[in-house]
Amino acid sequence: MRIPTEAAVNETHDPNRRSWIASANAAGCDFPIQNLPLGVFSTAGTSPRGGIAIGDRILDLAAAGEAGLFEGPSAEAARAASGPTLNPLMEAGPTAWSALRRRASSLLAEGATEWARLEPLLIPIAAADLRLPAAIGDYTDFYAGIHHALNVGRLMRPDNPLLPNYKYVPIAYHGRASSIRPSGGTLRRPNGQRKPAGEEAPSFGPSRNLDYELELGIWIGTGNRLGEPIPIREAGRRIFGFCLLNDWSARDVQGWEYQPLGPFLAKNFSTTLSPWIVTAEALAPFRLAQAARPEGDPKPLDYLWDAADQAGGALDIGLEIMLSTEAMRREGIAPQRLAVSNARHLYWTVAQMVAHHSSGGCDLHPGDLFGSGTISGPAPDSLGSLLELSAGGRQPIELPGGETRRFLEDGDEVILKGSCRRDGFVPIGFGECRARVEPALPV
Ligand code: CA
Repeated sequence: MRIPTEAAVNETHDPNRRSWIASANAAGCDFPIQNLPLGVFSTAGTSPRGGIAIGDRILDLAAAGEAGLFEGPSAEAARAASGPTLNPLMEAGPTAWSALRRRASSLLAEGATEWARLEPLLIPIAAADLRLPAAIGDYTDFYAGIHHALNVGRLMRPDNPLLPNYKYVPIAYHGRASSIRPSGGTLRRPNGQRKPAGEEAPSFGPSRNLDYELELGIWIGTGNRLGEPIPIREAGRRIFGFCLLNDWSARDVQGWEYQPLGPFLAKNFSTTLSPWIVTAEALAPFRLAQAARPEGDPKPLDYLWDAADQAGGALDIGLEIMLSTEAMRREGIAPQRLAVSNARHLYWTVAQMVAHHSSGGCDLHPGDLFGSGTISGPAPDSLGSLLELSAGGRQPIELPGGETRRFLEDGDEVILKGSCRRDGFVPIGFGECRARVEPALPV
């Protein structure tokens, strides 16, 4: 059952609306006029500023604002998006976000009389340097992918894969914002303490079990004041939008360090994000009822329970993971798909994450980032990490060209993709979240 809740479907989602920018109307385009994701970009010799992706172009919000193409609330919103981060726009709240979307949609729609003034303000995405869209004050990584939690739990505790708190508490750890980078770069294999089973003492050196994690990134828009929890019924409206997130993980470091306080250096060396924020409003047609919990699972406690959130708080976002190795690129072999999954498999809704995070009084701020946790599905072809895909490294996967992988090798490039489809609506996409592994620095 699909009941859009937080943001309703409106004329900006109209499947008949087309853009005067031809590339936005092409089949398979991630950024049709129904999407309008926001990001921060720069071009040679210019300062970073906010923009909206449309087809293969970026609408420069600062330039369009100065040209007087926005008016009233949308002009204020465009001004808030004209600087080097989108934090001021995030802080402006849902009414401003909607005003900007409606005006941008009307300006970019076929038949808009302003097209001749706008056209010179469009920048090819290919010519732009895409930045992190916001200054991230804090980053928290949840663990809401129950299939991942079960698969990983089985590797560590075959008899007792899920700890008893899992179905009551949206489990998370506080991550590290400083090492988050946008798609398109590299990450350096970390050195760390590793202690393989059978060895008496740990050693320090390059991680031998480097892994990716397929996650959804959740951008906080308006936050809360310290000591004032966000009620679950209001939590959805605090979310500005979503991106793809790769939580790179050094499994050997993690296995040794994680008890008793959870992940630390195994996770804090690098996180990669797709640069475009698909807004909560753009996703309105792709909301779903949260799947009923299996028989015997507890009902969430009252502070995490909201009928409207249960009716429309899940997200139908198709996700995929691709891998390209150095040898594959050399031989001209296309990236290999390793898994397909969907954000609908999350055990907790994003509103429940917001409500839980603030329930003790912790304050959230515009530009804070959540990771959803690794989104594996129930099927063997829907596993969101190599740890799961290779059964803890015991069953190497085979790649085209004859290579195998237990974990990532230097030169490997991981590409995450996301897209939403629903009959009667135009599909929208997230673009790419891509990064390549560089060798560790010598110890
Ligand atoms: Ca994670």
